[in-house]
Amino acid sequence: MPQSLVVVAYLVAGVLFILSLAGLSAQKTARRGNLLGIVGMVIAVLATMTAPGVLGNGVLIAALVVGGGIGAILAARVEMTSMPQLVAILHSFVGLAAVLVGFASTLNPPPLSGVEATIHGVETLAGVFVGAITFTGSIIAFGKLQGVLGGKPLLLPGRHALNLAAVAACVVLGVMFMRAEGDANVLPLLVVTLIASVLGVHLVMAIGGADMPVVVSMLNSYSGWAAASAGFMLENDLLIITGALVGSSGAILSYIMCKAMNRSIVNVIFGGFGATPVATGAAQAIEGEVTSITAHETAELLREAKSVVIVPGYGMAVAQAQYPLYELTKLLRDRGANVRFAIHPVAGRLPGHMNVLLAEAKVPYDIVLEMEEINHDLPQTDLTIVIGANDIVNPGALEDPSSPIYGMPILEVWKAKRCIVLKRGMASGYAGVENPLFYKPNCDMLFGDAKKMIEAVLTDLRQQLESKTA
Ligand code: NDP
Repeated sequence: MPQSLVVVAYLVAGVLFILSLAGLSAQKTARRGNLLGIVGMVIAVLATMTAPGVLGNGVLIAALVVGGGIGAILAARVEMTSMPQLVAILHSFVGLAAVLVGFASTLNPPPLSGVEATIHGVETLAGVFVGAITFTGSIIAFGKLQGVLGGKPLLLPGRHALNLAAVAACVVLGVMFMRAEGDANVLPLLVVTLIASVLGVHLVMAIGGADMPVVVSMLNSYSGWAAASAGFMLENDLLIITGALVGSSGAILSYIMCKAMNRSIVNVIFGGFGATPVATGAAQAIEGEVTSITAHETAELLREAKSVVIVPGYGMAVAQAQYPLYELTKLLRDRGANVRFAIHPVAGRLPGHMNVLLAEAKVPYDIVLEMEEINHDLPQTDLTIVIGANDIVNPGALEDPSSPIYGMPILEVWKAKRCIVLKRGMASGYAGVENPLFYKPNCDMLFGDAKKMIEAVLTDLRQQLESKTA
């Protein structure tokens, strides 16, 4: 393909990516958005592979086939519950690619001089610095999401000073890199890479469990900026456009999630924000007793309830309970009950995790509401049912200043007349904190696997309704 056509193809792909993002902003148009993104990416890859100088390059074709093959197999195999880990590790690849491109263009510099050479040097430094942070930070995020690394934050004494010192050292090394003659610039770049890699590890290690969602979206943003700087180094316009889109949309998502979690974005960027002891002192003692309920009793309560709010969480995703849950919702709605779903912004392990699962089970969008749309309705609700959720309904976030999740807005499910929590046992959630909700007098525990228990409740309710009409 001649270079002029490649440029046009890149432009078309860039426009498709923008339209794709626009489509992804609403559930109704998300499929179309996804499709436009796929078409854009196919055009981009085809144009790149058939560009002058690339077409017929055996190494590149082999890399595409091997890399694409591995990616396709992994993506096809991955469970929905492991999606966040996959996303995290993919971010790390983008970071690594930016570092490698930076070294390639330093070892094989383009023939530039004067201001152009300076700009290229700054691009290289920025790409390698952000890329290395993204690479190691994403690997740590992967480890934390996979459970290989503990959720507890690592809080080194004077960690902000350490981070600042690392950035200052990189600036000094950057100046050395720019001033060095010939191959002498490789060493300072190598040291920048090492320092930025340690910085990436440190920034993410300092983040506590419940604050991980913001870190994942922040790393997403970093990976976009890393890709954009690789685009500048390679003079590839499409890579610049795509990187900027990912970088800015990731930054906007991080901001939205910070607001939802009542955290400061500045603290996320500098690490350890969730770990700042919001208050000191021992955790508040939990009063009350845990009471359990059976599937039969739950079905009875559901039969009588006029308004029901369902709060799904990570456990629903693990159990794949969304399908029987929708059957149950249909049954209750057919009987005239007002059934709605309440979605917390960090429910599950991925932004939008619950929305995707409910859409998969064909739950209508208009009964799926965001936290701020439904929280004020909960006191007028007959029954709230929490399905495999824990941190997002933990009253400690409002009431216990010593709690690591203190300050995070939550779904106030106990304000309804009755509340049922469906989970397998008394285990804590991702943030690893006890939940006083389970001890509230109007809250009962329905113990068991979410899917099996919802099926049991559904069968029981059907039987109750049949025996009533018989
Ligand atoms: P949690 O992790 O707080 O709780 C999930 C609960 O589900 C557990 O307590 C577990 O209890 C229960 N569970 C697990 N498997 C099953 C099953 N098969 N059937 C029934 N219950 C089950 O989830 P939430 O959704 O409430 O909160 C999300 C947490 O994850 C927050 O802390 C958030 O910050 C964090 N996070 C979110 C990300 C995002 O982007 N959304 C990304 C990274 C982290 P038991 O074992 O007793 O059954």
